Amino acid sequence: MLHGLMMDYPLTLDVIVEHARRMTPRKTIKTKLPDGAWHEYDYAEFYRRVKKLGNALAALGVEPGDRVGTFAWNTFEHLELYFGIPGAGAVAHTLNIRLSPEQLKFIINHAEDKAIFVDGTLLPLLEPIAAELETVERFVVFNCDQRQAVNLPNATHYEDLMAEASEDFEWRCTDEDMALGLCYTSGTTGMPKGVLYSHRSMMLHTLGVMQAAALGPTEADVVLPVVPQFHAMAWGLPYACAWVGATIIMPGRHLQPAPLAEMIEGERVTIAAGVPTIWNGLYHELRRNPRDISSIAQLVVGGSAMPRGLIEAYERDFNVNVAHAWGMTEMSPIGSVSKLQTRHSDLDEAGRWDIKAKQGYFVPGVDARIVDDDGREVAWDGETMGELQVRGYWVARQYYKLEHDHEHFTDDGWFRTGDVVTIDADGYMTITDRTKDLVKSGGEWISSVDLENRLMSHPDVLEAAVIAIADETWGERPLAVQVPLEGSCDEQALNAWLLERFPKFWLPDRYVAVDEIPKTGVGKMDKKALRQMFADGELDPHPKPSAP
Ligand code: ADP
Repeated sequence: MLHGLMMDYPLTLDVIVEHARRMTPRKTIKTKLPDGAWHEYDYAEFYRRVKKLGNALAALGVEPGDRVGTFAWNTFEHLELYFGIPGAGAVAHTLNIRLSPEQLKFIINHAEDKAIFVDGTLLPLLEPIAAELETVERFVVFNCDQRQAVNLPNATHYEDLMAEASEDFEWRCTDEDMALGLCYTSGTTGMPKGVLYSHRSMMLHTLGVMQAAALGPTEADVVLPVVPQFHAMAWGLPYACAWVGATIIMPGRHLQPAPLAEMIEGERVTIAAGVPTIWNGLYHELRRNPRDISSIAQLVVGGSAMPRGLIEAYERDFNVNVAHAWGMTEMSPIGSVSKLQTRHSDLDEAGRWDIKAKQGYFVPGVDARIVDDDGREVAWDGETMGELQVRGYWVARQYYKLEHDHEHFTDDGWFRTGDVVTIDADGYMTITDRTKDLVKSGGEWISSVDLENRLMSHPDVLEAAVIAIADETWGERPLAVQVPLEGSCDEQALNAWLLERFPKFWLPDRYVAVDEIPKTGVGKMDKKALRQMFADGELDPHPKPSAP
C-alpha cells in the first residue's frame, strides 16, 4: 500500500477560534441581555475572553477530560464556554434548563460534572437541587448583577474569574479524539442518554453544516440561533458561524414571538433556526402585528416535523424560504435537509411544497438505510416504510457509560434512529413516525405524523397531536388532541378534511380540545405526557395540561 503524503492537521476546536481571530476579528457577536439591552463585542475580544476562560478553568482545577456543565440561555458567555471548555481539554456538558429536577440530578450525577456555569437568571432552577449534586465542586454564575445573592455552595462570579485570568493560554485540546461535548437526549422516548462528541466528530460536523447543501452560513450572514445551546449543540451553528465569521445574534431568554420578530427586523437576520413551535408562534404574531422579516434567506426548522401548511404560509405570506432539517442529538445533530434542487425545477407549486415538507436528502457525510422488522434492507421507492439506520463521521457509536447496547446500535456498525421513514428514488426522506409513536390498528400502520400535519393545516387548528389508545377490537386506534385557533373545532369538518387525504380507517376515534399541548424540554409535543393523560388513564373531556 502507498500512503498519501498529506499533513495530519488535527481536527481540534482551537483551529476555529484561531481562524476567526485572523480572518474576521471585527465581525460582531450580539446578545440580548436580561433587561432587553444589547451586549456587543467583536471576534477579537471574543478570542481574548476564550483564552482567559482557559486559564480560569485551570485555576478552578478543571483538568482535561473533566465534565463541566453549562446551564444557560444562548448568550455570549455561553458561546465562550462552548469554545473555552473544550479548548481547556475539558468536556462542555450542556444542561437542558427545562428538565425536571429529577432528570437534572440524574444527568449531572451520571456525567459527574466537576463544575457548573450557571446563568444568573436561572438560579432558582438549580439552587434547590444543589445539595444533591454529588460531584460538583464549584458553581460559576454569569449574565446577572454581580451583587445578586447566590444560594449555591462554592459559587463565584464569572466576571471575577475572567478579571483575574491572563490572556496567555496554551490550548489543551491536543488530540482530535478527545471528548469535546456531552449532550443528553431530551428523553422524548425514554430516560436521557448521554452523547459524547469528540473534537474530530464536531469539526467534521461543522464542515458538514457549512456545506451549501446543509445550512451553509457565510461571512455575510446574520445568524439568530433560537434553538437553545442546550439542544443538540444549537445544531452546530455556533461552531459553523465562528469558522466562517458570520454575525451572531444571541437572543438570551427573549424567546417569545414578539421579541423574536423585533430582533429579526431590527438586526436584519438572514438565517434563523428553531423548532416548529417557535415558528408557528412567530407566524401568528406577524399576522396580528406585522414586521418586516424579508431579510431572512433561510428559516431553518427541525427537531420535529414542520407542517407543510406552515411552510407554505411563510412562503406565501412573507416570501420567506423554509429549510426543513432533520437531525438527532446522536448525530451532532444534522442528518438531512430539504432544499429544492435543480431536478425539482419542473415541479408545480404544490409539488415543490411537498418536497420541502419532507425531511430531505442526507447531508454528504451521512449514510442511511431503511430496515424492516426482520432486519432486511428495504427499497427506496417512496412507499415502503421501515426503521431508519444511519452511520457517518458525526454519528454516535455508543452512549456514555452504556456499553454492549444492541438495542440502539447494530452489530454491523449502524445507529438505529427509532424513526420510521420512507425514502424515494431521489434520496428524499420522509419521517412517517417514531417507532414508539406509530398507531397499529387491525395490523395496519397509521402515521400519527401524517395525521397531525394534515390537522394542523386546517384553518381552525393551531396545534394537533395524535396518539394511540388501546382498543379491544383493533388493538390501537388514533386519538387526536387539538388546540383550536379560536373557540372550538367542528369534528365533522376535521374528519372531512382528513378524508381528502387518508383512508377512512385512519380517522381518529376521538377528538379532544385542549388549551395547550404539553411540550418536552426542547419544545416537542410530549407524547409520553399525552399518553399518560389520555391513553393510560380515564379520558377526561376537559383536561388541563401543565405548562411546558
Ligand atoms: P429526543 O430523541 O429526545 O426527542 P432529539 O432532539 O435528539 O431528542 O430528537 C431527535 C428526533 O426528533 C428524531 O429522531 C426525530 O424523531 C425527531 N425529528 C427531528 N427533526 C425532525 C423533523 N424535521 N421532522 C420530524 N421529526 C424530526
